[in-house]
Parts: sequence; structure tokens; C-alpha cells
Amino acid sequence: MPKINLARQMDRQLPTELSGFLRSAGRVAVGRRENLYLVGGAVRDLLLGEANYDLDLVVEGDGPALAAVLAPGSKLTIHRRFGTAKFRWQQWSVDLATARRECYSRPGALPRVVPGSIGDDLWRRDYSVNAMAIALNPRSFGGFMDLYGGREDLGAGLLRILHERSFIDDATRIWRGLRYEQRLGFKLERNTLRLLKQHTVMLDTISGDRLRYELECVLAEECPERVIRRAAQLSVLASLHPYLEGNGWLRQRYGRARRLTRPQSPSITLYLALLAYRLTEERKEELISKLRLTKPVARTLRDTTGLNSRLKALSAARLKPSQIYDLVHGYDITAVTAAMLVGGEAPAGLRLKKYLEKLRFVKTALSGTDLKAMGVAPGPGFREIMNKLRRARLDGQAVSRQDEEALARKWLAAGPPSPPA
Ligand code: ATP
Repeated sequence: MPKINLARQMDRQLPTELSGFLRSAGRVAVGRRENLYLVGGAVRDLLLGEANYDLDLVVEGDGPALAAVLAPGSKLTIHRRFGTAKFRWQQWSVDLATARRECYSRPGALPRVVPGSIGDDLWRRDYSVNAMAIALNPRSFGGFMDLYGGREDLGAGLLRILHERSFIDDATRIWRGLRYEQRLGFKLERNTLRLLKQHTVMLDTISGDRLRYELECVLAEECPERVIRRAAQLSVLASLHPYLEGNGWLRQRYGRARRLTRPQSPSITLYLALLAYRLTEERKEELISKLRLTKPVARTLRDTTGLNSRLKALSAARLKPSQIYDLVHGYDITAVTAAMLVGGEAPAGLRLKKYLEKLRFVKTALSGTDLKAMGVAPGPGFREIMNKLRRARLDGQAVSRQDEEALARKWLAAGPPSPPA
């Protein structure tokens, strides 16, 4: 096979400062008698002509030690067990790993690793298109290593695993494959697809934390619903929870979410809340514990259940702004946003929109201190007056500070509020 050198393509395509950094990193490595390579997604995206802000470097040597020389003074995150170091270089996030061989003690477990060659390191990768490397040492700079036909697969738009046990060793590669398939517009190669279907059960060997991470990566994609729909077709989604659905309902809500948050992407929590929206309370709890969701995210999911039970009340023919406020106030804002996106143009959806855009920001002119100065004693009556003032503001009965003062005086003169019925 003719040797391919990508140095010119790198200089042409990569920002000047980045190709400069890669060249100087190669020089530093050679000074340490080490061989340095650019690998993984950065190589794939270079060949596809796409920008990539995550750089994966592999060194035949000592990753963390080389990182300390390349990024003096910057914060290094080091994983001794894997021989990896992570740091930022300008706008790039750099992962520098010691070339390694992996050994899986049992399916789904994190692998045991021993130092190895660049060839070993490429063998442990997920798909051929992610298993290409470019040499960075000065004498061989740009030298292209493609041991598993990655370039050809890239041209044909195919995702191919490197060996038959790949999904058994690490079933998270299933989710990764579905992401790449949709993002790059690629297809899983025939045998890879067959093995993926056969080994979907291996997802049960993956810890909740790792599954959550994979799902978060899906939800960070530009169009997560495409990955979710494909995952549903292949029974991969069911491994998160058997009652999750990836249908047109979800597609429509995700589209609405994007239109709402444009030009930013919706948050992962909002996407997750929509994905889990139609699960019953009990099933949501199962998902929360399976994925070991954090407390704030779990709260968002739980609040969508609470809000959903209020949609009927929020659809009533006539509702004063203060009534909308009372029905919605206290729920997590991401949950309210999810419920609004579910409600759409129906009355409940429009009212939730009004709450989010307007009502929740309505404030009284009088503060607690002002009320105290007017002689209101602390206690339940105090809170009640504050709430009534806010309602008056919301419903337009008070439009100025003077209006609020007059109302507060009237209520004070009428005596303490009667206890709630
Ligand atoms: P993305 O554009 O999604 O960031 P990437 O290819 O850069 O894609 P990373 O998750 O940053 O993906 O991983 C970097 C590289 O590490 C991959 O290209 C792949 O070679 C390898 N890799 C990551 N996770 C796995 C895995 N579970 N199994 C095998 N190889 C993996």
C-alpha cells in the first residue's frame, strides 16, 4: 500500500495555531524519545473536512509526563490507571494517553490496561473510522496509519467494528455507533449491525453511570431524536427503560425545544425530561435509579409528573393570571418548560408559556421590610399579605406602590386573615 502523508492536508485544513501546536508537540516527544500520534475523532473529522475541538493524542511513552511538559502551568486531569492526562490548549480540549493494550476481565467492566504500541492502541478502538492515526514526530509528521480500513469505510459511509467481540467487551459502543450513524449520516456495516443486534443484551452489563454518560452524549447531539428513534427500532432504547419511546411525539417536542432555545441547544435535562415525560411516576423512579440521576435532574423529572397532573386545571375556560401562578409556582423551571412544550398551542401550553415568559417575574413593589415598617408582625399573616399583594399585581388590581400600600392597609384594618378553609 502506498504510504500516505497528510501533512499538507493538516496545514491546509487545521487552524495555523493548531498545526503549529501539533508540530511542536511532536518535537517535544521526539526529544523524550517518544512517538506521538493524533488519533480518533480528530483524524476522522480531518478527513471529512469537519472541525473538531477534541484532540486525542497517543504517545508511545508516558502520557501524563508528556502532558506536563506540553502544558506547563495548565490544569492537568490525570488518570494514572489508564495513563491519560487531559488539559485545555486554547479552545481545544486535549486528551493525551499512553499507548495501551486493553484486557476485559468481564464484559462491560472497565478494562485492565498495559502499555502497548500505537498498533495495540488502535486495536482497542470502537469503529474503523475512529481507529486511524497520524504521526506527529518531525521525521514522519503527517504519516497516516490506517490498519483497519478506516479511510475506505469513511469513503463508503460505513461504521465497522474491529473484531467480533467488540460489543461484548464494551456494549457502550452500541450507543456510540448509533450516534455516529445519525451524526455522520453513515450506516452500520452489515456484520456490525448483525453483531450489534445480537449483543444488545450486553448493555445490561454496563453500569448506570456509564449508561447515563452515553445518554448524555446522545442528548448533546444536534438532533438526538434521530439517535433515539434508531435506538428504539433496534431495542437499544429499551435497555434504559422498556417503556421509553422514540416516536414522532418526541420528534415534535424536541423540534419545539430547539425552536424555543435557539440559537443555543436545549439543555440535556430538558431533553431528558421530555424523553421521560410520558413514563408513569413509578417508571420514572426506575429510570432515575437505573441511571443514577443527580438530585436536581431527578427533581425535574418528578416535577413533570406533578405538572402533568395540573394540565387539566390549567386548561380551564377562565383562569386569572394569579391562578395560573398558583398552579405552577414552585415547580422546577426546566420541568415547566417541558410541560409547556408538551402542551404546545393548547390552552395549558399557552398558560405555561405565559407563566415562563411573564408571570414568574412579576414582583411586588413593597418588600418584607416595607410591610414591617407598616406594622405587619412576622408570622403566617405576613406571608399571606405578601402573597395577596403578588396576586393583586398579577391580576392588575395593583399597578403601583401606592396601590399596594392602600391594599395592605385595607387588609390590615380588616384584621388578621381567617385560617385557610
Ligand atoms: P466525538 O466527535 O463524539 O467526540 P470522538 O471520536 O472524538 O467523537 P471520543 O468519545 O472523544 O469520541 O473518543 C475518542 C476516541 O476514543 C474515539 O474516536 C475512539 O477511537 C476511542 N473510544 C472512545 N470510546 C471508546 C469505546 N467505548 N470503545 C473503543 N474506543 C473508544
